[in-house]
Amino acid sequence: MLFTNRIAPLAAAIALLAASAAAAQNAPQPRSDSSVFRPLQLPTPNEFRSASGKPGPRYWQQRADYRIQATLDTARQTITGTETIHYTNNSPDTLTFVWLQLEQNLYRPGSLGSAVFPAEGRWGARNFEGGIDITTARVGGTAVKPYIYDTTMRLDLPTPLAPGQSTDLEFAWSFRVPEHGSDRMAREGKLYEIAQWYPRMAVYDDVRGWNNDPYLGQGEFYLEYGDYDVSLTVPAGYVVAATGTLQNPEQVLTTRQRERLAQAARSPKPVAIIAPNEVGKAMPKTAGTQTWHFTASGVHDFAWAGSPDFLWDAMSQGGVVCHALYQPNASAAWRHGAESTCFAIDEFSNRWFKYPWPQATSVAGPVGGMEYPMFVMVSAQGDEEGTFGVIAHEHGHEWFPMIVGSNERRYAWMDEGFNTFIDAFANDRRFPGGNTPASYVRQYQAAVDRGMEQPLMTPPDRIAAAALGVVGYRKPGMVLNLLRDKVLGPDVFDRAFRTYIQRWAFKHPTPADFFRTMEDVSGRDLDWFFREWFYTTDVLDQAVDGVATAAGPNGQSTVRIRLSSKTPLVLPVDLELVTDAGQTRTVSLPVEIWYGGSTYEYTTTVPGRLVRVTVDPKKELPDQNRENNVWTAAKAAP
Ligand SMILES: [Zn+2]
Repeated sequence: MLFTNRIAPLAAAIALLAASAAAAQNAPQPRSDSSVFRPLQLPTPNEFRSASGKPGPRYWQQRADYRIQATLDTARQTITGTETIHYTNNSPDTLTFVWLQLEQNLYRPGSLGSAVFPAEGRWGARNFEGGIDITTARVGGTAVKPYIYDTTMRLDLPTPLAPGQSTDLEFAWSFRVPEHGSDRMAREGKLYEIAQWYPRMAVYDDVRGWNNDPYLGQGEFYLEYGDYDVSLTVPAGYVVAATGTLQNPEQVLTTRQRERLAQAARSPKPVAIIAPNEVGKAMPKTAGTQTWHFTASGVHDFAWAGSPDFLWDAMSQGGVVCHALYQPNASAAWRHGAESTCFAIDEFSNRWFKYPWPQATSVAGPVGGMEYPMFVMVSAQGDEEGTFGVIAHEHGHEWFPMIVGSNERRYAWMDEGFNTFIDAFANDRRFPGGNTPASYVRQYQAAVDRGMEQPLMTPPDRIAAAALGVVGYRKPGMVLNLLRDKVLGPDVFDRAFRTYIQRWAFKHPTPADFFRTMEDVSGRDLDWFFREWFYTTDVLDQAVDGVATAAGPNGQSTVRIRLSSKTPLVLPVDLELVTDAGQTRTVSLPVEIWYGGSTYEYTTTVPGRLVRVTVDPKKELPDQNRENNVWTAAKAAP
């Protein structure tokens, strides 16, 4: 609308002066909007990331394709490799240097991680003297001298890499395999579980440029997508499981094993590829070495495990072949390892986004639980329910962060938190009645009581080790359940969450992309929800403060129920009203009741007399103080 008036310019100016003088006299003190409903400040949308939460029309990301040949020397406990990374610069910037991750350097004495996390802790380096030696570094065929800082490496490019150009980065390297690799890799006897083991490209993105945060142990990864071609030379007799698809089964497997694998690819029940009585004597070659060749497409990492003592089961569900490899000393739960793997993959695939790869592998060993594309490591020593829970959790990571490639080193909740949220669906279908979501609320509230809370936005390496389970996992799991069940409703939430996954599959979303997508698809302003739950440690305390009753006609009474939100953290309110005639009524009030401030008066008419009001009667909310949740007429009487 265009504003016009017919007053002559001079008269208009005089009128304006008079008006502003009057305004100055009566002006209230300026104040900023401090309501919990004020807009959440997010990065300004641009052509790379849209205001809707979608990738923008000019969204780009880099690409890294890997070719690796590596040899495991079990006598010296080393891995030696050569590697070519075909790196494509899809950014609009000309790059004069590139950054890579050298995560084995966490195990070099004096590493940053060893200063932050105690040697004997979960992420600790155990005073192991390791680290990766880069013996050759070449860019486009020209030798370069790397600059290495802790677990990161910069290579200055002999010629700048213009937008759209590619170059080959070539390395030769070796490292000693740590016995305890921060619970992400390990060796135990003849078993090797290998991850974070080769130079990997750091992500260059439109948000932060080079993402070269060092690896300290607790914060996970942020990596570029591409294709992998990996040849692993191991002692003959070893069985190797890995990210990707085996390319040379006729060289490394017996005819019988290949037949069994073909059968497993069509079997809804596990087929033994290596049966218990075949362990240690199943492989075709007995002396020297054997090279296993794998390829994988559309992944951002590659991990593997090898042992001469694996049992191996496989089966198929929904077009995905599921493998479980475990040694004879693994718990009995591992006899269901392949089924548990398929169960989890199938659940997440059907509910959220179709699993995009041909296989999913679970390996039992000393690593408690760690995820890589198509490949996870899970403790060999769990009971039935615990082992299923960890297998499901680690494979849940195939969605976050393997499919949706967020920056785990900065945001644990986009990885562990989203995964913890989806895990509950698998757990509760596999072990009905367990009610996993309720356990998230209990653990969150216990952490609040012990003063261990931190905002979800805290970078993982700054989350206290004792609080990681809550801040990285259970609180975000609980928060998403609240958004789904108490704010949006399951249908609206699920549609928005699926849209987030679809929009950002094989891409690099930020927190703002998630917040915006949830608002975009649900059509709801959720700034208040995201600010409080993700950026603060405010807790919930809803209360009923009192009830005023006025007798009305026909034995009815009009009641005015005074409610309050004792903290800035607001949520919709569920009320249960009970009358002296024994009638019970439930009322759901939307979050907008708090627009006017922290108190609200709800007025209604009830038959007879109101005798009890209960806030959150089903105890579904993480209300930190339930003492003020019930009002009774008896209590209110003098
Ligand atoms: Zn996890």
